[in-house]
Amino acid sequence: VTQRFQASQHGIDRRNVSRHAIKVCEVLDQHGFKAYIVGGAVRDLIVGLVPKDFDVATNATPEQIRPLFRRARIIGRRFKLVHIVFGQEIIETSTFRAPADQGEDTDEHGRIISDNLYGTHEQDAARRDFTLNALYYDPLKEEVIDFHHGVNDLKKRTVRMIGDPALRYREDPVRMLRAVRFASKLDGTIAPATLAPIRELAPLLAHVPSSRLFDEVLKLLTCGRAMQCLQQTRELGMLRYLLPQIESVLEQPDGAAFIDMALNRTDARIHAGKSTSPSYLFASLLWKLVSQRWQSLVSAGEPRQQALMQAIDDILEDRKQPLTIQRRFQADMRDIWAMQPRFERVTPRAIWRMIEQPRFRAAVDFLQMRAQAHEVDSVQAQWWMDLANADYDSRAILIENY
Ligand code: ATP
Ligand code: MG
Repeated sequence: VTQRFQASQHGIDRRNVSRHAIKVCEVLDQHGFKAYIVGGAVRDLIVGLVPKDFDVATNATPEQIRPLFRRARIIGRRFKLVHIVFGQEIIETSTFRAPADQGEDTDEHGRIISDNLYGTHEQDAARRDFTLNALYYDPLKEEVIDFHHGVNDLKKRTVRMIGDPALRYREDPVRMLRAVRFASKLDGTIAPATLAPIRELAPLLAHVPSSRLFDEVLKLLTCGRAMQCLQQTRELGMLRYLLPQIESVLEQPDGAAFIDMALNRTDARIHAGKSTSPSYLFASLLWKLVSQRWQSLVSAGEPRQQALMQAIDDILEDRKQPLTIQRRFQADMRDIWAMQPRFERVTPRAIWRMIEQPRFRAAVDFLQMRAQAHEVDSVQAQWWMDLANADYDSRAILIENY
């Protein structure tokens, strides 16, 4: 049974809806098509969160959509969709799509997009992951269309898979991570039948491309409740397929405390609307591993800075790591870590040189986090923070009095 909710029932305030997304729906509607805002944006609007971005679903094909907008391009090969550009904002507009098992008589070369990939509105809802992600908002009628009791689940903060959970996890194991993420983000729970198969199917994550795993883990860690996500992936037996090294760090009390503190800082930034960099986040997560390795190399007689560089290589180049951190992030992580011992004993000249480094600011933040973990002196860490925040003249004075 399809449910329809009016403004007074779903509570979406149209002022919180992207005017560009409304525009896309309006134009498509004027040309006789159906068009709805869909997915995460509707979910977030209903619970009063700020949507990250707005996606539109329509019965118009990409070829029909494109000519209706000034700046629109068709992207993707196997399944095409349209990016409609308004200044900084891109409205991703996709055609209703059939579930994976229907219509996908695949062309292995991915050349021809056969029309039967597209589907009805109802099919489009059925191929989505969770009921609360399958809501359609018509901004013109201010109506929410719900094929799977998603509004009800959303109000109860229950993450429930559409269809047979085990089957849907087999189709795409990343859905197991998404279940954890949405439950944490909404401060809710995973429905029992949706939760049940995860533990057993967790090993399927081993077959997911590592770049996709990286993206998903990053989303888990930046959903605003990072530690909760990490703990739940661990409890459900998934963490070992993502970050096995972190699993062992979490088993050590001071390792767990450090990660907890670092992730709380990230959550606080997210809630304050500030950005977080993936490099900083992963530098924090892996720091205990680096520093333990570093200490053991120093104990074995290696010079401090050299030992640190070796430790960094050992951790970053660990082949057992299932998830690939992109090279550019790795480079930033190295910079942040490598600067740490340089905060300890420095000459004025070295301080001026350090300020010039592009990762200086992040490295000082990192130092402050270490101070919070009692690894370094907090007065000293604050001095560096003041330096980072100061203008040129104040810096000169600070350095003179170092
Ligand atoms: P957010 O953008 O806040 O992370 P979202 O729900 O918008 O959350 P996206 O990854 O942007 O997530 O996907 C948009 C929509 O596409 C989802 O709401 C869901 O309906 C559908 N979707 C995304 N990934 C999957 C998947 N792996 N399986 C089935 N449906 C999916
Ligand atoms: Mg989204």
